[in-house]
Amino acid sequence: MMKRKLNAKFKKSMIPIVMMCVVFICASVYMLLTTSQIQFTNEREVEINSDVDYSKFIKKVKDGHKEDVKIDSSRVDIHHLGEYQVTYQYKKESRDLRIKVVDSVAPECDVKEGKVALNQQADPYRFVENIKDATQTKVYFDKDYKFNKEGKQTVQLVIEDEASNKTYKKTTVDVVPDTTPPQIIASNASVLVGSDISIESLVTLSDDFDSHPTLSIDKRNFDNQKVGHYQIELTAMDASKNKSKKTITIQVIDETRKDEKVVYLTFDDGPSKYTAQVLDILDKYHCKATFFITGMNASYRKYITIAHDKGHTIGLHTYSHKYNKVYASTDAYFKDLEKIGKLAKDYIGYTPKYIRFPGGSSNTISKRYSKGIMSKLSKMVEDKGYIYYDWNAENGDGYSNMSKKEMYKRATSSREKQIMILMHDANGKQNTVDILPDVIEYYQSKGYVFKAIDDSSIVPHQNVLN
Ligand SMILES: [Zn+2]
Repeated sequence: MMKRKLNAKFKKSMIPIVMMCVVFICASVYMLLTTSQIQFTNEREVEINSDVDYSKFIKKVKDGHKEDVKIDSSRVDIHHLGEYQVTYQYKKESRDLRIKVVDSVAPECDVKEGKVALNQQADPYRFVENIKDATQTKVYFDKDYKFNKEGKQTVQLVIEDEASNKTYKKTTVDVVPDTTPPQIIASNASVLVGSDISIESLVTLSDDFDSHPTLSIDKRNFDNQKVGHYQIELTAMDASKNKSKKTITIQVIDETRKDEKVVYLTFDDGPSKYTAQVLDILDKYHCKATFFITGMNASYRKYITIAHDKGHTIGLHTYSHKYNKVYASTDAYFKDLEKIGKLAKDYIGYTPKYIRFPGGSSNTISKRYSKGIMSKLSKMVEDKGYIYYDWNAENGDGYSNMSKKEMYKRATSSREKQIMILMHDANGKQNTVDILPDVIEYYQSKGYVFKAIDDSSIVPHQNVLN
């Protein structure tokens, strides 16, 4: 009896508490439903580099349509993995969503067979090509293979992207003894007395197996404070201890020697089918010259290395030499210039800093494609460390229908002490080759020497007209 009474009393006192709770829950649900009009799905991921419709994250809009929500996705960098905020606005309500850019696709690539040096580590990148992935990838072997037995062997490669997606591919390697030393591509160079020179930057090494052969430079005798010629011995060694040597000459020059009578022959637009003949003539007369190269004639590119190894200077003249392309914008120009710079580096070991503009700095053709571009470029190239050369004499081979006699007359008309002659090493310029020996003989008889452009050369500039 007593117990029942107590229970009823307890129940009675609970009623207001329960009611308050019910009211509170109802109010919360009501607030939630009324304040948040945009409801989202549970999905939060988008694929890298994809075209995303950010409205797909909206589940529904209370009293409205998805299309009425304003979406600001400007902070999302769809090309890089990461978490980004997207803002959704509907009427007065603004809500942020954290969206994750993910990469869920494993890399694609082709593998190839190849050789591996006996008892050496192999570079896994040598067996993979055409890698396709939205992010950076790394390539490695699935385990530590020992290449200590001659003959064929199967290995497995792992291609892994930034999101740790992995692709596994098998290939066959042939383990062979490595007896070939690294190849040294390096050039002679000159430097002004007192200035620094990085000999390492003049040298490129390549090896059939070792991606990173070691280079040692013997520069004990070198003194950049003293004018003279210095022999520098380069030694390259691969992982199998095969060695090769090459000696280059660094000339320390005195900039005050401006009294000398010098002709700088400059050949634009090559290499071409005439480059070999031009080089023979220059050899015969012990002349050095400069070639402002393009990327147009792929089949003659070996002459870039040959000319360079003979002590001629390689300069850059743009890759395409197409006016509408290179003078479309300053960006387009530098893209094209950097392309020929990279090509030159492949053939001579470094990127030349000496350049010539297609048409020279005074060309007006560029006006058709971009007004004022030469005024900009002539300053910009110098800011980037290039030196541009026009000319103060020409043989006229840029004009059509000029006879050899007229060309010779033009080429030999200068009375300057330091002459830079514009010529062309290009298809259709047979006359240039034909008169070259006579032009050289003329200036040699007047006491001139023929030099390749270096840091001590004159730098003729014409008036910029656009
Ligand atoms: Zn040209």
